[in-house]
Formats: sequence, C-alpha cells, structure tokens
Amino acid sequence: MSGETASRLAARIRAEGPMPLAEFMGEAVAAYYRRERVFGAEGDFVTAPEISQIFGELVGIWFALRWHAAGRPERFPLVECGPGRGTLIADALRAARSVPGFAKAIELHLIETSPTLRAAQAEALAGFPASWHDGLETLPEGPLFLIANEFLDALPVAQVVFRGGAWRERRVGLFREDFAFVDGAEAAPPAAMLSRLPPPREGEILETAAAAEDFVARVAARIAAAGGAALFFDYGHAESGFGDTVQAVSRHRYVPPLAAPGEVDLTAHVDFARMAEAAQAHGAAAFGPADQGVWLVAMGLPTRLTVLLRGATPEQTEALVSSTRRLTEPHAMGRLFKALALLPVSAQPPEGF
Ligand code: SAH
Repeated sequence: MSGETASRLAARIRAEGPMPLAEFMGEAVAAYYRRERVFGAEGDFVTAPEISQIFGELVGIWFALRWHAAGRPERFPLVECGPGRGTLIADALRAARSVPGFAKAIELHLIETSPTLRAAQAEALAGFPASWHDGLETLPEGPLFLIANEFLDALPVAQVVFRGGAWRERRVGLFREDFAFVDGAEAAPPAAMLSRLPPPREGEILETAAAAEDFVARVAARIAAAGGAALFFDYGHAESGFGDTVQAVSRHRYVPPLAAPGEVDLTAHVDFARMAEAAQAHGAAAFGPADQGVWLVAMGLPTRLTVLLRGATPEQTEALVSSTRRLTEPHAMGRLFKALALLPVSAQPPEGF
C-alpha cells in the first residue's frame, strides 16, 4: 500500500472497521482528480474528446440543434459536468461559432471539483467566459442544457453479494496490509432492480449507483420543470445485470481496483437502464442508450472527417482515420460507450437517437 489517501483510508478502517465501498471510492476519486497528469498519452487514460476533435464538435452541433429547437433564445445556459482538461468544450465552442448567433448566446457553466482541472479548463477556454460550480445546486434557475462525458462512471457505487440465501453489503477492510473486500451486514438491493433479474446464485454481486442515479434524477427534474436537454456519454450496459464492474486504470493498464486509492483512475460501468428509469421517474423523457459509434455516424462524423481530410498530409490522414475508427468501431469504443439523452417529456427523439 502506498500514498497519502491509502494511509488515511487504512487508518480509518483500523479505527472504525471495514468501510462501505461507495465511501472508499468517493474518497479515492476525489483525491485522484486533484493530481496532475491524469489524461492523455502521458497520463492514465484517454477519453473520446482527447482522441478526436470531431467528438466535441458534434456535441457542439447537437446543442446548436437544441438551441434552434428552443427558438434560438438570446441566453443559452450550457453546463458541462466533469470537463477534464476542457478539450470537449473547446471543440464544441469552435463548432458553435459556425452556427450564426449560437456561440454568443452560450452562458457557460462548468461543474468541476478539482482545482487542478479547473485551471486546465480555464486555459483550454482561451478567454471564453465561464463560471465554475461544485455541483448542480448553484446553477442559475431556468432551462438546463447539460453535457457530461465520462462523469457518471466516476461517481461512487455500492455493491452487495449474495451469500447463504441473503444479500450482504460489500465493504472494504484490511487483510494484513492490503485493502480487501469483506462481507458486511445484510442489505436489501432495490426491488425494482431484482424484479428484472434471474434468481441470484451464491456469490453473485449486484452494483448500485445511488450517486449517479441521484445526479441524473436531479437533472431530469430540472429539465421536466424548466426545459432543456442533457446528453450523457459513458461506458456501460444498456440493461441491468449482476456483476462487479469496478475497475482501476493506471498508465493505460488495468490494475487491482482497491490497491492504490487516489493514485489510479477508479470507476464503474454505468447501468444505463437505471439512469433512464431515474430520469423518467422524475418527469423527463429518456432516449437511448445509443451506441457511441452509431450516434457519431448519425450526427455526421463521416462528413466532418471528409472535410478534415482535405489537404491533410499522409501522417495527418492516418491519425484522423485511426482516431475516428477508435471512437466508432464496435470492438474499440463504438459499442461499449453509449449516449443517453434527456428531454422534456413531450419531445421527439433528438438527432442521433
Ligand atoms: N469529461 C472529460 C473528463 C472525464 S474524467 C473528458 O471526457 O475528457 C471525470 C471528470 O469528472 C473530471 O473532470 C473529474 O475531476 C470530474 N469529477 C469527478 N467526480 C466529480 C464530482 N463528484 N463532482 C464534480 N466533478 C467530478
């Protein structure tokens, strides 16, 4: 075990006993994003907007279409959650400038808890005005237009394990000097989730993402009450299922998830069925999840690629083609990554869905 966060969590477990997985994950993720050098070839992982500028551009166009649908209001509150290095929003704003009147209407709000990343985002914006928030609570009233890429996967999950005929909470304890899962008290997973699953076998694990569901529910409630649209991208599954999806990545490789809290990227796959249900239960319409590859192609990726390829050098051509393949092909990021859109309940399916 190494690192400040690991020592702090270990001391807490020694004093109080095994802790809920969600608390362990919440502390680990918060510590992790305060570090430098998380993203990119030099960091731990690469996200879609970091792979190709086309991703952020098409997101920008999607919101331009929402702006048109809303009657081209003079002010358009655009919110990004967990903007990372700010690449997506910078690309989206560039595309927004090609739509007359749109960029001028954007009032940009960024939800980001990491001071390091807030600074990186300000730099990427190159003077475009924005305000930063810790959460949804401080956003201005009124319609909400929100984009989040690889944000929900960073929110903490809980797990239960089926043992001897009962579900038990999975907690994180210490085995010698290492973090290890231990069974906690009996716990009842959401009945709505269990009702759609086959009877559990011994040792089966079920994951719940209360923080992500709550976040989606609050966004949906805002959209239901005041209008707007939300677009979530993440890796995950379209249907709920059993299984442990908590994973850790360091320098582009999977590492044991509990081994180095705060030092590695700790995430869980998103259960899109549960996210859509949370949104619908709070009065919004949910569209998708659509496979990311399908969404990108439907939004015009091939046309944009053709434009960028004009006048490209052979090296640039190779880079453009391989990066768009990575985003769209089913065995790469095209199928595991999915898009979910939330709109007011009477809305027609939006572009790409
Ligand atoms: N969207 C970016 C980065 C994804 S990484 C991209 O696609 O490249 C996850 C982002 O969510 C980081 O910016 C991280 O600091 C932020 N984040 C994680 N947990 C958060 C929380 N609880 N509240 C606000 N932001 C959070």
